Amino acid sequence: MTSLTAFAAALPNLGQWALDQLYPPRCPSCAEPVAAQGHLCAPCFRSLHIVSDPCCARCGIPFAVPMETGALCADCLDHPPLYDRARAALVYDEVVGRLVHQLKYHDRMLGLPRYAQWLEQAGTTLLAQSDVILPVPLHWRRLTLRRYNQAAWLAYALAERTGLPCLTGVLRRVRPTDPQARKNREQRLRAMKQAFHVQKKHRRILAGKRVLLVDDVMTTGATMSACAAALKEAGAANVSALALARTVRLI
Ligand SMILES: [Zn+2]
Ligand SMILES: [Zn+2]
Repeated sequence: MTSLTAFAAALPNLGQWALDQLYPPRCPSCAEPVAAQGHLCAPCFRSLHIVSDPCCARCGIPFAVPMETGALCADCLDHPPLYDRARAALVYDEVVGRLVHQLKYHDRMLGLPRYAQWLEQAGTTLLAQSDVILPVPLHWRRLTLRRYNQAAWLAYALAERTGLPCLTGVLRRVRPTDPQARKNREQRLRAMKQAFHVQKKHRRILAGKRVLLVDDVMTTGATMSACAAALKEAGAANVSALALARTVRLI
């Protein structure tokens, strides 16, 4: 190997070394030092709860007891969501909450490859039946304040991993909605109604497409439902939803 070739081969490692000097690897949840960028520390990693079967065939909420394949939860029976199916990678808890907060408000992008891996595992079936990936959009005012959309980062990371195209700017949030945390289901649904829109010029892109929506956190699913309604009205054949984490009340 010539010295030039050896130098070129070492460049990626040098880049990693420089990154580690600038940003020493820290757990994206608790900020404890870790061995490599984007890794969680052992206690945080051990505390993660993967969302797994048995779960509602529609919204993906896990059941506490074994159920037959295709079973739906009471919420989906009472109020069928407007998306076709939803799945999530992790149960939203304190550790995941901190991780999402870091991603959302502090530009902590270094965990993205790992989050994309979790999304891919949770959404294997949905991905196999999707043509395009779309992030849940932010209203432009919030996007201006925050400078980036964490759902778009996740969607791009998942698209890079799977080879599916990622479309941004097609689905738009046309109404700023209040922070959702303190609202009940009816209030959320009201707030979400008509919050999303697809412009006429973009409808052609969505016609007949199977869309996979990506977001960081799913709570009641009202946001995903509102997005799905707008996408289907614009011609999407079906809309599935995939979140990094979801709030879970075992049923
Ligand atoms: Zn940690
Ligand atoms: Zn359900």
